[in-house]
Amino acid sequence: MHDVLIIGAGPAGLSAARWCDELGLDTLVLEQSEEVGGQLLSIHNPIENYLGIHTDNGCELRDRFAEQIKDCDFDLWTNAEIASVDLKAKRLVLRSGEELKSIAIIIATGLRRRKLCIPGEDEFTGRGMIASSGDRQAFAGKDVCVVGGGDAAAENALLFAEVCPTVTVVHRGKKLRARREFTEQLHTNHCITVFPESVVHRIIGREHIEAVEIERSGAIKPFQMAVQGVIVRIGFQPNTELFGDQLEKDDGKYLVTNARHETSVANIFAIGDVANPAAPTISGAVGAGATAAKTIASRLKA
Ligand code: NDP
Repeated sequence: MHDVLIIGAGPAGLSAARWCDELGLDTLVLEQSEEVGGQLLSIHNPIENYLGIHTDNGCELRDRFAEQIKDCDFDLWTNAEIASVDLKAKRLVLRSGEELKSIAIIIATGLRRRKLCIPGEDEFTGRGMIASSGDRQAFAGKDVCVVGGGDAAAENALLFAEVCPTVTVVHRGKKLRARREFTEQLHTNHCITVFPESVVHRIIGREHIEAVEIERSGAIKPFQMAVQGVIVRIGFQPNTELFGDQLEKDDGKYLVTNARHETSVANIFAIGDVANPAAPTISGAVGAGATAAKTIASRLKA
């Protein structure tokens, strides 16, 4: 029996753990991955807007967080996959069979990248599907397709255009949704072609990706375009499936909370991007961790 169970060890979960520790709460953090950091691990650009700290990428910020918590008293289990939760009873069962109970639970499960869910997307993992812009040297000299029309798609197109002869951005809307700073660069970069009102139907190849099948608005039939790499950047979705109908969610399946980060079930808190569709930021996640921990501590003292 713990005072607090924290699910997820990204910035929100680690901040909550740090504060719970300082406030004398017996705390266990459960992280399903091998390492802590959450989405920080996939940020390859400098982080310049987290006040007081400048890092070259997300891993470096994660390392700073890890350094700061290394002497804390809370427990942290990685590779801790949760099989089921009963939020009213504050009871979790891990895939390993272990059962855990607590007075409060803080959910900090974050977001994951949305997938296209088309043929070839999973099959070509590691064989042409590009997980991260950090892999771009492996695609130097190759033609790539970027799917999506937001900031992430535009930013990746620009990064890959530094090393690839052609980059084709395929997006379903009439206009790119990305900020003007990016779209202006996209339209003037001679390596980049933008296909608006277009959809990628499937990814084709044998050992590796060889082409994508694209349907363009107004075209009579889909056509195949030769590429060796595909990167999908079509937004994020919250990791809330584990909680089923036990908590109130909004239309986008994000958890609904009040200003103290309390969910619709007593003593269940949700912090970070999983409960912040309006402004998912590292700063917001870290602040929410502090608020949730302080609320729990004051309730336990009362
Ligand atoms: P966004 O939500 O901004 O954009 C998602 C894009 O994907 C839209 O063009 C959308 O199309 C399209 N899309 C969504 N679902 C599908 C689907 N099923 N099939 C095809 N297309 C689809 O997400 P991003 O990943 O671009 O960015 C996420 C967040 O990260 C944003 O807040 C962004 O500002 C931020 N970011 C900031 C950066 C920076 O500051 N340097 C860099 C990268 C990201 P439609 O418009 O038709 O809905």
